[in-house]
Amino acid sequence: MNDIRKIAFIGAGNMTQSIVGGMCKSGYPADHIFVSNPSPEKLEKMKSSLGVNTSQDNIEVIKQADVIVLSVKPQLMEQVCADIKSKVDNLADKLIITIAAGIRMPKYRTYLGDDITIIRVMPNTPSLVGQGMSGLVTDSADDKDKAYVTEVFDGVGDTLWVADEDQLDILGAVAGSGPAYFFEFMDSLAKGAMELGFDPEKARAMVQQTCLGAAQMAKESDLTLEDLRKQVTSKGGSTAKGVEVYQQRDLHTISADAVKAAVKRNQEMA
Ligand code: NAP
Repeated sequence: MNDIRKIAFIGAGNMTQSIVGGMCKSGYPADHIFVSNPSPEKLEKMKSSLGVNTSQDNIEVIKQADVIVLSVKPQLMEQVCADIKSKVDNLADKLIITIAAGIRMPKYRTYLGDDITIIRVMPNTPSLVGQGMSGLVTDSADDKDKAYVTEVFDGVGDTLWVADEDQLDILGAVAGSGPAYFFEFMDSLAKGAMELGFDPEKARAMVQQTCLGAAQMAKESDLTLEDLRKQVTSKGGSTAKGVEVYQQRDLHTISADAVKAAVKRNQEMA
């Protein structure tokens, strides 16, 4: 990483552990990373495995850092921010990153002050295995801050900046919820094989590697997804017969409706 700042993570849960793990793997100095959490177990684990600074006191880590990452559950955010606001007086000088789902930037301004610089990041669960898709949006950070945060989240997968929080809702409905859609699809494919007599473990192994392989091919190719599909579908062949079933049952409309339903729910919860 080029830009090294002192960064404090508030909450040492699954997401923080993945992001900090990714940062350390990319060479970010552990002595510039601070993590706070109410219970000591996760902190001890992070301290011993990664060598980062830890504390059970949010304010202590924030005071030492230039960047704050809010990584507590959304329902705790207002209370955590109120405590920070009442005890830290130079919040406008720090870059604030939040990964909580659903809470929009204007809300953080009511919690932490109108003059904060804030970036919202929406990671997804595959970040936990270094294959995340994180969406990012800001109404106040400059290019230098944006480049810094991009590098931090590149440590757990790919990053995509979007124009506004409505776009982040769409990203959430595709990338955030997407792993569940793919699991559903993978499960149905595996069950299809099992109905024909395939062993469950082998069905799962076959489906997960096929999914991974298809994603990797798509990532490495310049072809459109439609052309990639055509490339593996010979006219009159068995794949064509299978694809025909998806087309007849209109998989495109089903998927588009799923995305719209998830966006609607995201907006209702905001
Ligand atoms: P998590 O594993 O439950 O971690 C949350 C952590 O916050 C816990 O370690 C908890 O500590 C700690 N905490 C509770 N109260 C606190 C306080 N007052 N001050 C500081 N820390 C406190 O949750 P997560 O999955 O990492 O999610 C963190 C955030 O990321 C959430 O806002 C979530 O919406 C967002 N997010 C998660 C994912 C995902 O895939 N996991 C995806 C996108 C966004 P104790 O356990 O000791 O109480």
